[in-house]
Amino acid sequence: MRKIILIAGHSRSGSTLLDRLLGEMTGFVTVGELRCLWIRGLLADQLCGCGAPFRSCGHWRDIVADLPAAETRDAYARRVLRVQKVVEKSKAIPLLLDPSLRPREFSDRLDEYKHALRSLVAGIFDKTGASVIVDSSKKPAYALIMKELFGDDVHVVHLVRDSRAVAFSRLRTKLRPEIHWMKKNMAVGNPLRTGVEWRLANSVLTAMRDAGRCTQLRYEDLVDRPRATIASLVAGVLAVNPATVQVPHIYGGTAELSMAHSVAGNPMRFATGKIPITLDDEWEKNLTGLRRSVVTLMTRKQLKRYNFI
Ligand SMILES: [Zn+2]
Repeated sequence: MRKIILIAGHSRSGSTLLDRLLGEMTGFVTVGELRCLWIRGLLADQLCGCGAPFRSCGHWRDIVADLPAAETRDAYARRVLRVQKVVEKSKAIPLLLDPSLRPREFSDRLDEYKHALRSLVAGIFDKTGASVIVDSSKKPAYALIMKELFGDDVHVVHLVRDSRAVAFSRLRTKLRPEIHWMKKNMAVGNPLRTGVEWRLANSVLTAMRDAGRCTQLRYEDLVDRPRATIASLVAGVLAVNPATVQVPHIYGGTAELSMAHSVAGNPMRFATGKIPITLDDEWEKNLTGLRRSVVTLMTRKQLKRYNFI
């Protein structure tokens, strides 16, 4: 059995936490945000989750050695990146939802991208021996492509977090440790922009859910009941009874995490050992005034649908 769990949603929704909790399951391997491998891993040589620069990490060196590159590894990564930028942009979403709308040139690029992804995923399964890959790439367009490519073998989890919490998180600066040659922070965004992006990402994924193509999970429920949530999710993917799923690494609001060779993600991807699982609800006190009203008004319909208000 070979399965992929793909965590999709807006950024700052807790995808790295979910990724790490799933990655500890027996027979599972987490890769972090796999769609970032071409730029952040192969080209920019940012840090792998193990702490080594990507190109020096033996785990990934073995996997990327088998990529079907006719040219140098850098040239191949640049070629895949060019195609990725076209097929994963927001404007491509209607084409991804309806193949009959695709111009020939778009289809050719999509085929090229799918070919690269198929080789990469096969290499991960072959070299790690894992039966389940956990990929927290998040981007809805990527989720649509992976679903088209792998069908029922990819289980998309739409992870949704209260838009106000996401907006507040995006106002905070956070250092990106994987950029090891200089100090660089994660991108910050104003609440208006976050509201627009949150609405778009969650609309596409809710449409996928309504079409029976993904399951939905609230970050807040994951944090509230991590052990039961992971057991239930894994049981759904493996088609087994949740009572038979062993989750020894989560107990009493704490997770015990080992090192993971993740390509990209939130800085908590580097954390190992005992990690408390706590709800980050600082926004409730500190996101106030116009900034709070704007996000609430823009996303009200979906906040209701996900039972946040
Ligand atoms: Zn590594």
